[in-house]
Amino acid sequence: MPDFDLAIVGGGINGVGIARDAAGRGLRVLLVEQNDLASGTSSASTKLIHGGLRYLEHGWFRLVREALTEREVMLRMAPHLIRPMRFVLPAEPGMRPAWQLRLGLFVYDHLGGRKILPATRSLDLTADPHGATLKGRYRYGFEYSDCVADDARLVVLNAVDAAARGALIRTRTRCLRADRAELWNLVLDVRGRREVATARVLINATGPWLGHFTESVLQQPAPAALRLDKGSHIVVRRLFGHDRGYIFQTADHRVVFVLPYERDFTLIGTTDSGFSGDPAAVAPSADEIKYLCTVANDHLRVVISPADVVWAFAGVRSLHDDGANAPQDAMRDYVLVLDEQPAEAPLLTVYGGKITTYRRLAEAALDRLAPVLGARPAWTKKSSLPGGDFPVDGVARLVAQARRSWPFLSEAHIRRLVQAYGTRISRILGPAKQIDDLGDRLGADLTGAEVRYLMDHEWARTADDVLWRRSKLGLRVSPEEKKQLAKFMANAIGSDG
Ligand SMILES: Cc1cc2nc3c(=O)[nH]c(=O)nc-3n(C[C@H](O)[C@H](O)[C@H](O)COP(=O)(O)OP(=O)(O)OC[C@H]3O[C@@H](n4cnc5c(N)ncnc54)[C@H](O)[C@@H]3O)c2cc1C
Repeated sequence: MPDFDLAIVGGGINGVGIARDAAGRGLRVLLVEQNDLASGTSSASTKLIHGGLRYLEHGWFRLVREALTEREVMLRMAPHLIRPMRFVLPAEPGMRPAWQLRLGLFVYDHLGGRKILPATRSLDLTADPHGATLKGRYRYGFEYSDCVADDARLVVLNAVDAAARGALIRTRTRCLRADRAELWNLVLDVRGRREVATARVLINATGPWLGHFTESVLQQPAPAALRLDKGSHIVVRRLFGHDRGYIFQTADHRVVFVLPYERDFTLIGTTDSGFSGDPAAVAPSADEIKYLCTVANDHLRVVISPADVVWAFAGVRSLHDDGANAPQDAMRDYVLVLDEQPAEAPLLTVYGGKITTYRRLAEAALDRLAPVLGARPAWTKKSSLPGGDFPVDGVARLVAQARRSWPFLSEAHIRRLVQAYGTRISRILGPAKQIDDLGDRLGADLTGAEVRYLMDHEWARTADDVLWRRSKLGLRVSPEEKKQLAKFMANAIGSDG
């Protein structure tokens, strides 16, 4: 008997999404991630849970419909983590005409069975307060709905739920070799120690490492249909005080988002360019940073320069190559390739995908594998992610309740915890009556109690896991505080043995 029904390599959104769904269907699941959860592309997205307005121009209606529908499914699954945002789209003189924008937004409003999110409306940007942030040339535009999420926390919460349903999640565990016979025989490197495991099915969910994994671990020829595209983002101090995001059309026929981010910041992205090389070393180039500043300066009254950038990050998409010339035209839908050989265990390879559609991708993966693993009913559509078991409009109520329970914490602190942990906030704060009951103060509003929770329940092992993937407190702590946090975590690991 094999150790597992399903072995998944890759702890990005696609790997953990499949792990959660499969574990919930009663399958025995192993997921291995060579580094931290979400340490690849899944923490480097634009953070949009969106249909993809621009994709309508490409005629990708299947993808847009599915993604639009998923926005509200996900909002219900994780109302703490995912929140609606209104986007201002100014009509740009000399670019797509207003009738085309209006038509696109009409389709966008109606394609995905929208129930919760408000509809599009026209804006007179000469009078609307959200026009005041923009350069004077804009006369009118539109405001439409999409959602935003903390992408990395979405990954972590899927892993938490997968584990609660019986999946074995192993971080800092690299799959070194996968030998195929009637079963898969895996050789794993667990922080320097070798382990082996067997599974009936292997899923390659390694994202931008897909080609490398195929060649060096599976020892198969490089996949011909793989295309890697890089995108970069910058973060600067807050450029405007309101809660709307902007979507700007650029002269090179792309769009760039400018979004309110983490209360005190603004996120700007993305670029699009072909990529080759080591995905672990991907970083924004000086030219990309300059380009994003220029796009912001072309549209906003305020002026920024690369010196204003407090954080920049880049990610790589691993797309199924549809032969498009420009990176922004390459198809963003997911493609699942099932490799079945007589008397050999199957291999499923995941190309592309979006944070937005990961849940549907997982369902599609299990449908493809049903002939091997057995057909079991889908269940995730009406489920909650950990901490998300409250109504979609319930964040304010949860914040108010939490403020009554822990009145010694500031509103901003409580709000951050509610948005990260939802109803599980009490697992961190427990019976605390004063701030000292929460242990060490570790920079910004981070406490020992929260870090211990992240280490015990969310696989956090390093300061970066906590500061950049379980939270975005990396934007707020000093290098000294980061060192103190690393020391705290090393001591905790040491004392846990
Ligand atoms: C710039 C950019 C912006 C985007 N914006 C959005 C957006 O706004 N909204 C949206 O819905 N989507 C967006 N996307 C798409 C989305 O981010 C990706 O489709 C998604 O994150 C891909 O997830 P993944 O799990 O396939 O890959 P990854 O997140 O990269 O995960 C793969 C994992 O496999 C691990 N791995 C590799 N090899 C091994 C091995 N041998 N052993 C163990 N582990 C291994 C890696 O460490 C990595 O963590 C964006 C993508 C990019 C690049």
